[in-house]
Formats: sequence, structure tokens, C-alpha cells
Amino acid sequence: MKILLHICCGPCSISPIAQLRDLGHQLEGFFFNPNIHPYKEFERRLDTLKEYAAAVDLPLTIDGRYLLEEFLSEALRGDRLRCEGCYEMRFRVAAAMAKQLSCDAFTSTLLVSPYQKHDLIREVGERVARETGLPFYYVDFRPGWQQGVQISRERQMYRQPYCGCIFSEKERYCKSK
Ligand code: SF4
Repeated sequence: MKILLHICCGPCSISPIAQLRDLGHQLEGFFFNPNIHPYKEFERRLDTLKEYAAAVDLPLTIDGRYLLEEFLSEALRGDRLRCEGCYEMRFRVAAAMAKQLSCDAFTSTLLVSPYQKHDLIREVGERVARETGLPFYYVDFRPGWQQGVQISRERQMYRQPYCGCIFSEKERYCKSK
């Protein structure tokens, strides 16, 4: 199949790219992550991905919009988990791009991380698939997580210390008693 791979960052893309290629799929990489703040961090993650995509010959489409206000308004809605809105916001745009690029399905590197809400990612992906008519290709990429970490360290790629949004940055560093 021709699959659009939504990519959250370079290091997380290593194992999913390898696993999907091993399965014989043709890949279109896609970056759209308005959840990454502040802007310098956004730029740094995107630059790291651009470099890695070029190194592994991955076609990469970039939606570089820095939608800080839109993201915050989704995250602060209050009627659902912050991360649910975050996944949904990204997957809606990924599914639309997958259609534009004539892909058969879309998936996400978010499925590789043991720190993400894995079941929720799958649930949101399948919901967006029902709404858009474009299949969500679910793979549990997590068994490849450690190898991806190792390769990213060997390649000296930038590895971010928090998930992306300012809330996750606070959770990571602000250890108030
Ligand atoms: S913690 Fe991560 S997944 Fe959750 S809202 Fe923040 S950036 Fe998105």
C-alpha cells in the first residue's frame, strides 16, 4: 500500500519507517505538529526530521504552520483529554493530506512511543478514518522503540526531553511540591 506516515519527530520516525518498509509499503512522510512549543523547539525538531528524511530517502511533505492559538483552544476545551484533541487535530490534517497524495491509508509515528496514550491514538485514528473515509493503518510500533532510541543516539540526532506542548514541558520540569 501507499501509506502516509504522520511524523511527530525524527527520532520517533526511525523504527516506523523501517517496519513499514519491511512490510513492503511505499511511504509518504508528513510533518504537521502544531502541538510543539515554543517555536524554536518546533524548528529544531523539524530540522532534525528534514535531515533524517533526506538520509533515508523518505519523501517528506511539511505543513509548517505554527498554530499555537488553535492548539491551545483545542487543548483547553475541557470536555475531553488534552491529548485526545491534540491527536485529533493532527490526524484530521494528516488524513486530508493522505487523500491529496492518493495514499491508501494513514498512520502515525506516535504509535511507537511507550510514553504516549497508545490506545487513545488508535481510537482517534480510527474515528478520523470513519469520518474521512480514509483507513487508519494501525501498527503497534513499540517493539522497535528501543532500537530507534539507539540509532538516534548513534546518529547524534536531537532528542527532545518533553512531548511537545507547554503543558508537557511543565510536567517535565516544574516539580512543585
Ligand atoms: S502531552 Fe503531547 S500528546 Fe498530549 S497534548 Fe501535549 S503535545 Fe499533545
